[in-house]
Amino acid sequence: MQTDTYRHRGQRRALVAELRRKGIHDERVLAAMEHVPRHLFFEPGFREHAYQDKAFPIGEGQTISQPYTVAYQTQLLNVQPTDRVLEIGTGSGYQCSVLLALTGQVYSIEYNRVLFERTQRLMARMHAPAHLFCGDGSLGLPDYAPYDKILVTAGSPTLPRPLLRQLRVGGALVIPVGDASSQRMVRVVRESEESFAREDFEVFRFVPLLGEAGWQK
Ligand code: SAM
Repeated sequence: MQTDTYRHRGQRRALVAELRRKGIHDERVLAAMEHVPRHLFFEPGFREHAYQDKAFPIGEGQTISQPYTVAYQTQLLNVQPTDRVLEIGTGSGYQCSVLLALTGQVYSIEYNRVLFERTQRLMARMHAPAHLFCGDGSLGLPDYAPYDKILVTAGSPTLPRPLLRQLRVGGALVIPVGDASSQRMVRVVRESEESFAREDFEVFRFVPLLGEAGWQK
C-alpha cells in the first residue's frame, strides 16, 4: 500500500489554500480535506496528479470528483459529528473518506461491482469504518434509513423520490440535477413529513446517476 509522505502533506496544504481562494470557507471541511490522502484513491498512472484541483479517471468510465466539487458538496451538506450520512456513488472512496473525517456514521453505495469490490478492499486495508454496499443507490438504502444527510455524487435527471423519503425531518439532500451535459447543485431540506425546501446553487458536470430513479441504461 502507498504511504503518505511529507511531500504529499505539503501538496495537500497547497490544495487546501487553493480551495480557500476559490471560496470554500467551512474550516471543518478544509481540515478534513487536508487530512485525507487523496493520492491513495488514485490509479498508479495518475497518482502524481492527485493534488491538482481536477477530476481524474478511476476506471470503468468513472471519475474521482474534482477536489473543489468534493469541498463544495461537503460544505453544503453541513455534516455534524452525530449525523448518519448516506453517499450515493462510492467510486474511489475519496469523498466517503472525507465524510468519515466529519462523522463516524457513513453509508455509501456504488452501482458498479468492479469499483465496489476494489474500493471495499482499499477501505478495509485502510481500516476505514465505512459501511459499503453495492446496488442501485438511486433507490437509496432503505434498510438503514432515515439519514440526517444524503449526498449524491452523480448527475440526476430529477430529485429521486426514494431519497427524499429516506431523509429524517430536518435532514438535507445535496444532489446535482440536470441533463447529461450540465447539472445544477441542489440542496433539499426536509421541513416536515410532507414539506421540502429546495435551494439551487452553482452548475457542475457529473457522470450520470444510473438506475431506476436516475437515468435508465
Ligand atoms: N464519490 C466518488 C469518489 O469520491 O471517487 C466519485 C463518484 S463518480 C463522480 C460517480 C459514481 O456514481 C460512479 O462511481 C458511478 O459508478 C456511481 N453511480 C452511478 N449511478 C449510481 C447508482 N444508481 N447507485 C450508486 N452509484 C452510482
